[in-house]
Amino acid sequence: MAQPRVARIQLTSLQRRQLYGVRRRAWPNEGCALLLGTFSEGGLIARVFRVAETKNIANSMSAFEIDPEHQYCILAAASKEGLEQVGIYHSHPAPPEPSESDLEFMKYNPCVWVIDGRKRLRFRMKAYQLWQGFLLSVDIDIVPE
Ligand code: ZN
Repeated sequence: MAQPRVARIQLTSLQRRQLYGVRRRAWPNEGCALLLGTFSEGGLIARVFRVAETKNIANSMSAFEIDPEHQYCILAAASKEGLEQVGIYHSHPAPPEPSESDLEFMKYNPCVWVIDGRKRLRFRMKAYQLWQGFLLSVDIDIVPE
C-alpha cells in the first residue's frame, strides 16, 4: 500500500464532531475509526469525505485493534465511491502522542494517524505520519462542508 507523504488532512467540523462522538462512546477505552477520502496535490493534501466508526476489538484503554474483516468491507464499499483510506483515527485517555505500539503499527499502516487525546484535562486532536522512519506531524485543517 503506497501512501503519499501527506502535509495536511482536511476535515469538516461535522466530521470532527463525529470523531469526538467515537471517542465519547468508547471512553475510557480507545475509540477508533477509518478516515475515507481522496488525495490531491500529488498526495500532499488528504481530504476526508467519510468517517467510518469501527469497534475497538482490543477493548483497551491503551491499545486499539480494528477487525480486519470489517476494515476490508469498509474499504471495498469506499472504493466503489472512489474513496480510499487516507487516515486512521483513534482516541487516547492519555495525551495525543503515538504510543510505542502505535509507532510499531504505523510502520505497517503508513497513512495519516489522527490521535485525539487528553493533556491537562483538555482534549486535542493531532495528526502524524511515519515517513521513511521519521515521525512527522500533519496539519489538521477544518474546512467548509
Ligand atoms: Zn494510540
